[in-house]
Parts: sequence; C-alpha cells; structure tokens
Amino acid sequence: MKLVFLGPPGAGKGTQAAHICAKLDIPHISTGDMLRSAISKGTPTGLKAKSYVESGGLVPDEVLIEMVRERLSESDCAKGYLLDGFPRTVHQSEALKEICPPDRVINVFVSDEKLLARLTGRRVCTACEGTFHISMLSNAEICPSCGGKLIQRKDDTPQTITNRLNVYHTQTAPLIDFYTAEGTLRTVDGDKPEDEVTREILIALGSQDDLH
Ligand code: AMP
Repeated sequence: MKLVFLGPPGAGKGTQAAHICAKLDIPHISTGDMLRSAISKGTPTGLKAKSYVESGGLVPDEVLIEMVRERLSESDCAKGYLLDGFPRTVHQSEALKEICPPDRVINVFVSDEKLLARLTGRRVCTACEGTFHISMLSNAEICPSCGGKLIQRKDDTPQTITNRLNVYHTQTAPLIDFYTAEGTLRTVDGDKPEDEVTREILIALGSQDDLH
C-alpha cells in the first residue's frame, strides 16, 4: 500500500507512521529525517537544505522531488511505503502523482493551539530517535526508553514553530482539497489518545482486521 501522511508539524505523523509501518511492514519515509541526516553528514542536499530547515521554511521543491524520486526507486519500496512530510506543496503533489499516485492519504488533524504546546515541549532522543513531551518526563535530558541524551530540535523554538505553522496553512493545507478531489483523502482526529488515532487510521486504510 502506498500511503501519504498529511498534517501540520506536531500532529503526531511520525509517531503514527512508526505504528502503521510496523503493522503493514512497509518502509517509513520521512523527508524531515532524510534532510536532518543529510545536514548532519554535510552532503550536497544537506548543504542546500540547511538554512530552510533551521528557519522553518520549505526546502525548494526540486530538491525534495529528486530526493523522493530516488528513494521510491529503491527495492524496499516495491511492496509499498508511507511518505511522512511529503508532499508539502501542490507542485510536490503533482510530481508525486506523476512518479506514483498514493493509494490513500491520511490527514491528521490537530488544532494550532494544541500544536504549539506539543512542539515547544517536544524532546527527541539523539540515540533511539524517540520523541517525548516534557510533561511525561521526570528528567528532561535523559531518554526514558534507552537512556540516551534528549535534545530540543533546532526548529522547535517558538518563533520557528510559528513560521512552520504559517507555512503549513499557506502551502500544505491546500493539499487537503487536492486529495479530496482525487478521492483518496481520509481525515483522522489527531487529538485523541495515541492508540485510538492508530485505530482510526487502520480503519481508514481498511485494515481493521489487523487490529485483532
Ligand atoms: P519535519 O520533520 O517533517 O517537520 O520537517 C522538518 C523540516 O524539513 C521542514 O520544516 C522543512 O524545512 C523541511 N522539509 C521536510 N519535508 C519537506 C518537503 N516535503 N518540502 C520542503 N521542505 C521539507
């Protein structure tokens, strides 16, 4: 199954993607993770992307489309995949339609007010890449899963978050209409508890049999 997860930053797309990919045994392709890895390795893509990612703006479409085109041509994608964070502009969604249109697009909805609280309190483990909210941590610097060091993403500061939410509303939210017109969009309520959101997504994918 070829899936796209759409939704604002902080909606829980990455967390839900991990659950769904494990259940359906498909690769999780997060363009944000790919860009952060390219930036830390200093690759040509990383050098092009760095300033955009750190300011919360969008990396130019051409860079992303090429990166995703290459990734989707790898052998592990033959059985399907979940794209998390791509497409983010109408131009990217048109390019994806030409590369290979998704079977289903899941729109994870969360209000801006909740997103702001989630993102400013988000901590990421540098070892296992787990994501946590400070309200759930007894020590805001140590990963409760693996003991690794927790950090705040550089783009999780209040000013950058405001910019990322504006970018989402102006450039990415129009994709809701795009995929509604394509007939592939299903919206789930990302404010619900994590396991309920997973359940809603599986139902939207027609995979509710996998719940048992
Ligand atoms: P994310 O981890 O999905 O929140 O992405 C982090 C940052 O990577 C975004 O704020 C953008 O700067 C960049 N990025 C990720 N995916 C895309 C995309 N599809 N198009 C443009 N920029 C992207």
